[in-house]
Amino acid sequence: EICKKHNTAIRIGTNHGSLSERVVSRYGNTPYAMAVSAYEFAKICHSLGFDNLVLSQKSSNVKIMVASTRMLCEMLDKEGLNYPIHLGVTEAGDGQDGRIKSAIGIGGMLAIGIGDTIRVSLTEKPENEILIAKDILQASGDRIYKAEFVSCPSCGRTKYNIEEALARVKAECSHLVGVKIGVMGCIVNGPGEMADAHYGYVGSGDNKVNLYRSKDLVHSNIDEDLAIEMLKEMIKEDGNWKDRLDIIK
Ligand code: SF4
Repeated sequence: EICKKHNTAIRIGTNHGSLSERVVSRYGNTPYAMAVSAYEFAKICHSLGFDNLVLSQKSSNVKIMVASTRMLCEMLDKEGLNYPIHLGVTEAGDGQDGRIKSAIGIGGMLAIGIGDTIRVSLTEKPENEILIAKDILQASGDRIYKAEFVSCPSCGRTKYNIEEALARVKAECSHLVGVKIGVMGCIVNGPGEMADAHYGYVGSGDNKVNLYRSKDLVHSNIDEDLAIEMLKEMIKEDGNWKDRLDIIK
């Protein structure tokens, strides 16, 4: 009644580690039990005419978090209920382990269209959580904060230092929100495999590069030393360039 009066949302958060005895004794300590827990509370709220809800299924186990979230969404779907879903992998840890867990759990859900808000939980300073959250949203395509890069793993056909090339292109262009650049190892498969990139920076021979606008070849066999500036010129010609300072302003 108080939340209704003040138009305040309620988050129904089910945590794998703290399910009620009643639910656990009936369904075990399972993803299904988690889904039922949240579903029951949502139904109670709905029956009282309160639908200002956000639901979340939290677990430090990625598979359990994913399974329970999917089950909950199926239960709600069957009832024609559609509430925002909050995603998070709790106690994900730190460093690479925490980042991978978060990316799989949160990103996996976003990739199939589930999830409205997210929280990355790392045993690190909070600013780091925000950076990873932004990267997950960018990778899933739900928010675009920076340029996107497509690059191949390189192979025997690669005749230039693609790692250095990618680092150089990223250093110059990563702030260009919405621009997609392919950095590829060879002209045999590179142009075809850089998907829908707006620009291509593709190795064409010993320290030589071809530059593409979409799939159209614009500059052929240019020295690598000149390539990055020529790529920037192409981006400027298209009106897609911004200086970093302009973005900060
Ligand atoms: S794009 Fe070319 S260099 Fe890159 S992995 Fe494929 S074949 Fe090898």
